[in-house]
Amino acid sequence: MNTFIKSRLAPCGLHCGKCFAFADGDIRRDAENLRRSLGDFDAYALRFVGMLNEPRFRAYPDFREFLQLLTESSCRGCREEQCKLFRGCKVRACSEAHGVDFCFRCPEFPCRNTGFDEHLYVRHVAINERMREIGPEAYYEEVRDLPRYRK
Ligand code: SF4
Ligand code: SF4
Repeated sequence: MNTFIKSRLAPCGLHCGKCFAFADGDIRRDAENLRRSLGDFDAYALRFVGMLNEPRFRAYPDFREFLQLLTESSCRGCREEQCKLFRGCKVRACSEAHGVDFCFRCPEFPCRNTGFDEHLYVRHVAINERMREIGPEAYYEEVRDLPRYRK
């Protein structure tokens, strides 16, 4: 199947392409663009507190720190390296051992061998059921412009 899509969708089905930790992801790229666009905004933020009577500009130093963190994301995705977020994840190694590119293709799906907490497990099952229904390519089209971080 399409190697680009596989580089974005992990074997568990999560969308690495929208993960904040993904080096080639939207969040890291957008953060880098915003950091560049803001330039040396620090002094201006302080001035705008009074000039615009807007105390929220005081939060700029914390915002800049966090933005910097987002620009430093370096993960190459689940198929290239151990997930930096879910360190207890067993899916990648397990999917390789089972010779499947996604869990929904595994005869044991849904299983309890993921190492995920309940929240992630439920999401993983729902994603894989959807991929089984419409195929990973169509699933990717469904989620490619959606944020990964949804309730
Ligand atoms: S492997 Fe984990 S940390 Fe890396 S991009 Fe995918 S979900 Fe994010
Ligand atoms: S055993 Fe479970 S975690 Fe492993 S590949 Fe199959 S469905 Fe995925």
